[in-house]
Amino acid sequence: MEHPLRDEILSAPEMHCPYVIHADDAPLCKRGKRSVRVLQWSSPMSSAPTLLQNIIIATNDPKSPMFSQHSGAIDLAATWSFKVALSNVFPDTDEFGEPIKGTRRYKSGKPLHPHGVRMVFAGTVGDWKWHVEAFNLQRWYNKEEVCEECHAKKSQGGPCMHDFVLDAPWTETERSLDEYLAEPRQLDTVSPFCDIEGWHTFNIYQDAVHTDMLGVRPLANGGAMWEIALMGYWGMVPPTGKWKDGMNSILAIAWEDFARWMHVNKKHCNISKFSCNNLSMHVQLDWPELKSKAAACATVTEWLAPIAVTVARRDGTHENRMRSLMLWGLDTLWQEYRNGWQLSDERAALMEEARKAFLLGYHACSKAHHARQSFIYPIIPKHHHFDHLLRRAIRTKLSPSLVWTFSEEDMMKWMSNVTGKAHGLGVMKGPIQRWLVFFCSTAQESLLLDS
Ligand SMILES: [Zn+2]
Repeated sequence: MEHPLRDEILSAPEMHCPYVIHADDAPLCKRGKRSVRVLQWSSPMSSAPTLLQNIIIATNDPKSPMFSQHSGAIDLAATWSFKVALSNVFPDTDEFGEPIKGTRRYKSGKPLHPHGVRMVFAGTVGDWKWHVEAFNLQRWYNKEEVCEECHAKKSQGGPCMHDFVLDAPWTETERSLDEYLAEPRQLDTVSPFCDIEGWHTFNIYQDAVHTDMLGVRPLANGGAMWEIALMGYWGMVPPTGKWKDGMNSILAIAWEDFARWMHVNKKHCNISKFSCNNLSMHVQLDWPELKSKAAACATVTEWLAPIAVTVARRDGTHENRMRSLMLWGLDTLWQEYRNGWQLSDERAALMEEARKAFLLGYHACSKAHHARQSFIYPIIPKHHHFDHLLRRAIRTKLSPSLVWTFSEEDMMKWMSNVTGKAHGLGVMKGPIQRWLVFFCSTAQESLLLDS
């Protein structure tokens, strides 16, 4: 599937500037339940992302009654802006097709950029939830059919999402744009974004931050750490007493090991000390999941992968080898993400090895546990999403880091800091920042009501 402007872009690449769209919610104040929806566009090609490159193009409060009524209007206005940015010509009609009034009409027909550079839509980035909401996706993580790009299913008896081999049946079941559009067309719920030149379900990009670092990696790290702790690598689990107390004492030793490794390797990592609670183990039958900030999660894999190798060398059981293979794959992927956005043939081949190692290794560990009624290493729809992400990178030789959302998330953090300072007791500390966001959000609603 090629971009509709491919030939034009290839004939004058320096005149076409790609951008991606991202949206997320930032809380409006600490104690309140309101939040603002921040829609931003940014360049995927920047080698040094800064906040200034992420331009906020619209905000609104998703919980406001106005939102459901008018989010479509905002999307429509944003889409109009994207089309204008592509045409590089000041328009003579607004987003509703009405003639532009006032002084702006004198600019109609004049170029936006003096040298004719045009902005080209490259895709949408961000978490799965936003994509589901923005495009009324019919196939997503809570559905039996989990994928908008193919016909993969959760259960057996069809192209199964658990299948990670190279020629898995789902790879032969591509879902076309028309198949996706059939339902929203019938219900008249087609998102205005679908009208942007180049928009396609195939460039709703899976995001390495949400899919890998905050999605499947915490399950792999958590499962592996739990198993290795149970094996006695950091000392034997006390045979008596509460299971949680015993495991907490072992995980505290694992944390000391991790802290020592970070010191020796000059690493810094913002992560809470290891404990049953931080591994999401509230009852003994839970599955371990080490939740943390995205980059911290990758640092944990970097520390844990060689430990898994040591465990497998001491005792070469199938599960020990699969666990070490899985973590090698995951760590290799993290190293590769940061190695430049263009993949050589060698790097693409290494990424395919790492893809297979992680997904097939994880699958083997999951299967072994399920055979004993254990829930460690659950397979979730994000594993399938991750498989798409990696196969796309290997096929296109473009690193997933090109469309990951670290800079967008930094922008969201900044927005949350601004809005989060608005604690009920400390309003005077940042009243201007607080009310600036609130004012913009409310003013936008009023304007929409008037229109
Ligand atoms: Zn799929």
